[in-house]
Amino acid sequence: MDLFEHQAHDLFALHDIPTGRRRVALTPAEAAAAAAAIGGKVVIKAQVKTGGRGKAGGVRLASSPDEAAHAAERILGMDIHGHTVHSVLVTDASEIVAEYYVALLLDRAAGGFLALLSGAGGMDIESAPPELLVRAPLDIDGGLTDGLALSLCADAGLPSEVAPVLTALWRLLRAEDATLVEINPLALLADGTIRALDGKITLDDNASFRHPQHAGLAAAAPADPREAAAARKHLNYVKLDGSVGVIGNGAGLVMSTLDVVAAAGEAHGGVTPANFLDIGGGASARVMADSLEIVLADPDVTAVLVNVFGGITACDAVADGILQAYWQLTDGGGPLRAPLIVRMDGNNAEKGRRMLVAAALPGVLTAETMDGAATLAAAMARQEAP
Ligand code: GDP
Ligand code: MN
Repeated sequence: MDLFEHQAHDLFALHDIPTGRRRVALTPAEAAAAAAAIGGKVVIKAQVKTGGRGKAGGVRLASSPDEAAHAAERILGMDIHGHTVHSVLVTDASEIVAEYYVALLLDRAAGGFLALLSGAGGMDIESAPPELLVRAPLDIDGGLTDGLALSLCADAGLPSEVAPVLTALWRLLRAEDATLVEINPLALLADGTIRALDGKITLDDNASFRHPQHAGLAAAAPADPREAAAARKHLNYVKLDGSVGVIGNGAGLVMSTLDVVAAAGEAHGGVTPANFLDIGGGASARVMADSLEIVLADPDVTAVLVNVFGGITACDAVADGILQAYWQLTDGGGPLRAPLIVRMDGNNAEKGRRMLVAAALPGVLTAETMDGAATLAAAMARQEAP
């Protein structure tokens, strides 16, 4: 589970990582009251679980409660990379001298944790020269000691005052069972102090049973309505930034489909996946209809790729599910909102494909290979894009 920035700040404060004074506001009036309580200049920040808020206009300075209300009015309801802003964080504005990047994360490939540090933090971290990024694997038992923290700071050109923040971040990571803790920017302020100005934390859901105190974190989230709808139907839906909706069965197949779509999309103006939905084991008509409905409700979707490997649920049953879902969603009439490209492999794949071809539904295409399907989806997505 990803946390909102304000929740990350709460965990920072709990683990002695310096943060600003702050309040969450749901309305412009609440933002004004928060600004008055905090006093002086404040920053109003969109609370959405995505990065790049600054560049999207989701971070604004305000010098008075009136200005805070005005800023909140502009930010609330904004759409940032497909996430609607339902709340803002009001925090005291810091006078920034330097912005650093620090992160600790689980490196699954290496089977351990990794520390990342850079002196070039802030909104342009992605385009910062990679040689400025210091990477260090962390021993799970040894952890991030005071000595190691100091030497990492020296390597990255960060002041030694950052070292205690790093060790505190390590303690947070382990104590809360997080797989990622990231601060960008970690700022050096004009008064010489260090402060976390942003925060990103991913908690390991598999460890949630050890943390009854985390229960409220998910409840506080006014989730993306499509993610909430998917969760109610036990479907795993994740919103991304592109334009191709991806439906598949099994996490491995879905992940590789995302890669293949992104690769094929390079030849079509940089088309990438808009979301993905893992239907898991079953691909009944009901599950297909639910999945298509959720994916097509994403306004960013201009083409949908269904990639299914037939197993216990054979491809002819999947094809039947798609046909029934199509009739259900179109009320027996016209095409779906976006073209549907279907690729099936495995048990009864040929039979399933023949069923779809024979039905000749407008806007429903089949492809034999994953690459072929992805190329078709990328081309269709591009054509449909405004
Ligand atoms: P992100 O764009 O989603 O990563 O949001 P951030 O929380 O990182 O904010 C974006 C940028 O806003 C930061 O890189 C800072 O330059 C700026 N910013 C954030 N908080 C403050 C603050 O308290 N004071 C000032 N002056 N700038 C801030
Ligand atoms: Mn940031």
